[in-house]
Amino acid sequence: MPEGPEIKHAADRLSNVLVGKHLVNVYFFTERLKKYEIVLEGAKVNSIKTRGKALLTYLDSGHTIYCHNQLYGRWYFSKAGSLPKTQRSLRMALDTSAERALLYSASDIDVLQATEVDNHPFLAKIGPDVLDKELAWNAISTRLLDEKFTKRQLASLFLDQRFLAGIGNYLRSEILFDAQVNPLKKPKELDRKTLNNIARSSLKISHRAYTQKGVTNSESLVRRLRKKGLSRARYRHAVFGRDGLKCYVCETVIKKISVGNRRLYLCPLCQSEN
Ligand SMILES: [Zn+2]
Repeated sequence: MPEGPEIKHAADRLSNVLVGKHLVNVYFFTERLKKYEIVLEGAKVNSIKTRGKALLTYLDSGHTIYCHNQLYGRWYFSKAGSLPKTQRSLRMALDTSAERALLYSASDIDVLQATEVDNHPFLAKIGPDVLDKELAWNAISTRLLDEKFTKRQLASLFLDQRFLAGIGNYLRSEILFDAQVNPLKKPKELDRKTLNNIARSSLKISHRAYTQKGVTNSESLVRRLRKKGLSRARYRHAVFGRDGLKCYVCETVIKKISVGNRRLYLCPLCQSEN
């Protein structure tokens, strides 16, 4: 399942194709949205933004196209007049004079007025986007102390989009490992320094995953591991998917546990102090 960094890459690709261009043709699969096909034709795409796993396309007509890919949605791109080879069902097409941005299989698509964006049922309840450039680490520390979040286990908090949007399963394990904290602890049990570490690691690891296309280990560690001949699956993460293998920091065997029905990986030694 794509997490924040993967959604942001899709948004980058979409920006390249659409931003600054006029839509010459718009298609919606859903009957309810058909009326917008004509309304949006000719509109210019101003910007594309992500909020967690939701993607927002802002148009100069004052409309914003909202889409959330859920588990199955996928963007394809093709030249004007052509379609990609896929068995999937087309849900939305945004055409410029040169290219097509095509969204397949996603079911959660809507057209909003500017004023409706913040009140959208999904957007209204999610927390700040972990990849938002304006999100500072101390804002995350403050959230960790918030009544709503501070009494919950980190493991469940880091999958809750109301706490931070854009974090999914692999980022959860990797952030908590980087912060050297036990996933079963609750923020209220931790000192300020540890909470600050968690906040900094949340930003550091998420941004790294974005710039390194899903790789959460540092560039220098990756270089070292690649020299040893390790495959991407082995050098990509510090702990995620590495149960039974040795921690790159302390050589303790990485453990896999299940929290909230989702697999979580940790180093029993590196993550034992806090
Ligand atoms: Zn370790």
